[in-house]
Amino acid sequence: MKDQLFIDGDYVASASGQIFEVVDPSDRQVFHHVPRGNAEDIDRAVTAARRAFDHGPWPRMSGAERASVLRRMGDEIAARKDELARLEVRDNGKPLPEAVWDIEDTAGVFHFYADLAERMDNAAEQPITLGMDGFTSKAVREPVGVAGAIIPWNFPLLMASWKVAPALAAGCSIVLKPSELTPVTALELGGIAQKAGLPAGVLNIVTGFGAEAGQPLTEHPGVDKLAFTGSVPTGSRIMATAARDIKTVSLELGGKSPLVVFADTPIDEAVEWILFGIFWNQGEVCSATSRVLVEAPIYDKLMARLAEEALKIKIGHGLDEGVLLGPLVSPSQHEKVLAAIERGKSEGRLVTGGGVPKGLEAGCYVEPTIFADMAEDSWIWREEIFGPVVCVKPFETEAEAIRMANDSRFGLAAAVMSADLDRAERVARAFRAGIVWINCSQPTFTEAPWGGYKQSGIGRELGEWGLNNYLETKQITAWDRHKPWGWYLKG
Ligand code: NAD
Repeated sequence: MKDQLFIDGDYVASASGQIFEVVDPSDRQVFHHVPRGNAEDIDRAVTAARRAFDHGPWPRMSGAERASVLRRMGDEIAARKDELARLEVRDNGKPLPEAVWDIEDTAGVFHFYADLAERMDNAAEQPITLGMDGFTSKAVREPVGVAGAIIPWNFPLLMASWKVAPALAAGCSIVLKPSELTPVTALELGGIAQKAGLPAGVLNIVTGFGAEAGQPLTEHPGVDKLAFTGSVPTGSRIMATAARDIKTVSLELGGKSPLVVFADTPIDEAVEWILFGIFWNQGEVCSATSRVLVEAPIYDKLMARLAEEALKIKIGHGLDEGVLLGPLVSPSQHEKVLAAIERGKSEGRLVTGGGVPKGLEAGCYVEPTIFADMAEDSWIWREEIFGPVVCVKPFETEAEAIRMANDSRFGLAAAVMSADLDRAERVARAFRAGIVWINCSQPTFTEAPWGGYKQSGIGRELGEWGLNNYLETKQITAWDRHKPWGWYLKG
């Protein structure tokens, strides 16, 4: 495990020499220390990134050359899958099979953006037809410059890859600030980049807290673009800071996403996706379908089956066989979710769960929790909990389901289940959300755009949209007649 910052191609100590503890949420024990980066470290990192961008080879290479480095990074991540997945379990708490999946996805993201980098060589210039003779014009895409990336703790290495891989593919250099709760795997990226031959300064990683390292990154005049995933209040603050220097910002924020189940859905199919939609990754998923709307005729039957299956979910240490629900990421998140559950008990009916599982009191565990009978204006129905807590309500008509689904300040994801595919498509179109699933919930593909409407964010990650985040568009227009245009100099 790395215990230094990664700046200008090397692992280095932090300027202050201060460190902070990394805690394993399965037993609340400290298992590692990493540098407590501050404004001085951020300045060193941005200076290195600036130099690499302004004078280094990376943005001047062909897409194919950058692709080969990205591919080697993806290969190395894949080769170290088991080790990285185990680090992720320790740092975040998630069950090992989910961590393995994350690391496979992370390698896939680097490979995907390697392909897009290569394709940029052929699509580097787009001719533009003009409405006036004598001029030719084309649009070219260029890297936006130095990117500052700030990420959360729920998918530590995967969230890093969603920003680092497209930024590198575009030709940017980048300073990454991982979450203080899960800094371990992100720090490994430095060594992976070194081994893959990424030029010094192109990728820099500074661990530390939001106020001490994140804020100085957003304020730094050497940063051209900010990419953030995290909570709405932090996103809002980052946008306000970025406004001062007119930095480009992309934000992936929170959600309270609905899953609408029509009565023609087989109960077991609905139960499977409801469970996956909220209990996968302990519900610490920005797109978790934490509000479930069930058509009245199947409501009672579905609720009974859902509660029965939720009770069967094996809770425990992420490395234990068969575990499908690990501890929450940290003691503070544990407290936050338990407090939300207490509030929920006063607003609705607790169907199942709601406590700390017996025998697992030493860790940050929470039982799969289901609430029913809450009001539409209740806090538990409207606010993101970011834990294994789902609220279920019945509905009578399609119009009512759409109204309730869209009645949220968030708009990250939404899902609909129905055997009637015309209806499913109609509802999918009616959702005010950036990601919509039909007859499933949560499967996420690197090729498809990811991001939210309303307060869930600005911009899209993944796919070609993710690459566009890190590109500027320049027009180059030429007068091709080799004589005066004739405005002032006539004849
Ligand atoms: P958070 O906003 O507390 O922290 C996210 C990151 O921002 C951390 O690295 C933190 O150190 C940093 N930060 C905090 N204050 C800062 C500041 N003033 N300036 C700069 N950086 C600062 O969020 P979190 O608790 O880590 O993550 C949970 C949230 O993230 C949830 O709300 C969830 O919905 C959201 N999320 C969204 C997506 C998505 O794709 N939309 C994905 C994962 C998580």
